[in-house]
Amino acid sequence: MSKISVIGTGYVGLVTGTCFADLGNHVTCLDVDENRITNLNKGKMPIYEPGLAQLVDQNVKAGRLHFTMDYPEAIKDADFAFIAVGTPSGVDGEADLQYVREAVEAIANIVTHPLVLVNKSTVPVGTGDWVAEIFRKHCKDPNLEFKVVSNPEFLREGSAIFDFMNPDRVVLGSTDREAANRVSMLYSPLRAQILVTDLRTAEMIKYASNAFLATRISFINEIANICEELGADVVEVAQGMGMDKRIGHDFLDAGLGWGGSCFPKDVKALEHMAVLNGSQPQLLQAVMEINRNQRRRAIVKLRKALGKLEDKVIGILGLSFKPDTDDIRESPALDLIHQFQNEGAILKAYDPQAMPNAKQVLKKVQLCVDPYEVATGADALLLATKWNEFKQIDFTRIRKIMRQPIILDGRNIWEPELLRSLGFTYFGIGRGTQPNHK
Ligand code: NAD
Repeated sequence: MSKISVIGTGYVGLVTGTCFADLGNHVTCLDVDENRITNLNKGKMPIYEPGLAQLVDQNVKAGRLHFTMDYPEAIKDADFAFIAVGTPSGVDGEADLQYVREAVEAIANIVTHPLVLVNKSTVPVGTGDWVAEIFRKHCKDPNLEFKVVSNPEFLREGSAIFDFMNPDRVVLGSTDREAANRVSMLYSPLRAQILVTDLRTAEMIKYASNAFLATRISFINEIANICEELGADVVEVAQGMGMDKRIGHDFLDAGLGWGGSCFPKDVKALEHMAVLNGSQPQLLQAVMEINRNQRRRAIVKLRKALGKLEDKVIGILGLSFKPDTDDIRESPALDLIHQFQNEGAILKAYDPQAMPNAKQVLKKVQLCVDPYEVATGADALLLATKWNEFKQIDFTRIRKIMRQPIILDGRNIWEPELLRSLGFTYFGIGRGTQPNHK
């Protein structure tokens, strides 16, 4: 049993703290957001993540998991302090490290016992060294034993608990092997592959991994666009490609492009780091441009189907950036809604989990109770997020209640032929059809 404090109770921090508590450790999670901590202490989750509320509840009841806003309370006898605060995009695309700085300063100001500081936030290469400098500057005891370990997080929102408990790998970077080994012991119950490396390499592994996954999506989106021109179906193309073990099926779904709290900011930050250091990251730049273009193409498709978008009613199914989360950061749906509104369209939308978050940022969008209310009187329906509950909606009913039967399936979840047979004008992404096919 170790004593662990986790700084930041967002998607990463709350899951990390809860899972470490579930493995038998004594965990205190700290956040500066009073509302968050008050709610957590009442058993109310600040985010939607499947299975999280129950796991938090179990571990709080078992006395292993606590929430506080008080740094001294969180740090007082911690062996490890995990930093899991946000690192959003700064003005030029660089990662904004202000929250990391604040957290490290707050810890350094009060700690009086040996501590391993573990960085889980996604931070630019070199941040571990910078963190050590800040710590030394603010720590009152110059002889205090203090180590920095980079431990980038790879969990996916929507399956975060499973991913934490069943990681493909745990990456640990440090200039101090013993500190890295101590952190690796925290993960030993998971029986995961553990890669111990230096600080900078660990930091780079996170960026390179996210950039690679974003590249796969942009790649298949580019193939999708070529498929549309040539009359092939990208869904089957991706299936055929993925059967090759060297390629695999993951992250080969053509759609409206990647979004979320990680890929956009991380690819941008990696590009920024590269340019700043004299590299020419042409592939990363193309990956981002293809992603932007993917959304433009969706707008062009609807313009083509509807003529002018002004005064047309567009229904959006799904607002979160992907299914099984309420996270709307950099969601393609929100971006498209703003662009449709700029062209004078009238917007309606529904999402199974993201409506409370969406309400805070969307203006003049009618938020509906289900897909059918969205479809009522709509000139077009755009599927933006691949939630399970959209997969088998009643299209006969939808056909009757829409003003015009136009569907843009932005995640390729529906059968084009079925929808066409019901009288819809169906657009997918990359679903060209040649005359003798389908
Ligand atoms: P988030 O925005 O959901 O949560 C961050 C939390 O940190 C907030 O609750 C905020 O109030 C808190 N915070 C900010 N400053 C603080 C401070 N000084 N002291 C204490 N708490 C503070 O962020 P997230 O999505 O959990 O991401 C955290 C980090 O993990 C980011 O660097 C992100 O890139 C990385 N990451 C995220 C994911 C993901 O799927 N969300 C996956 C892997 C890595």
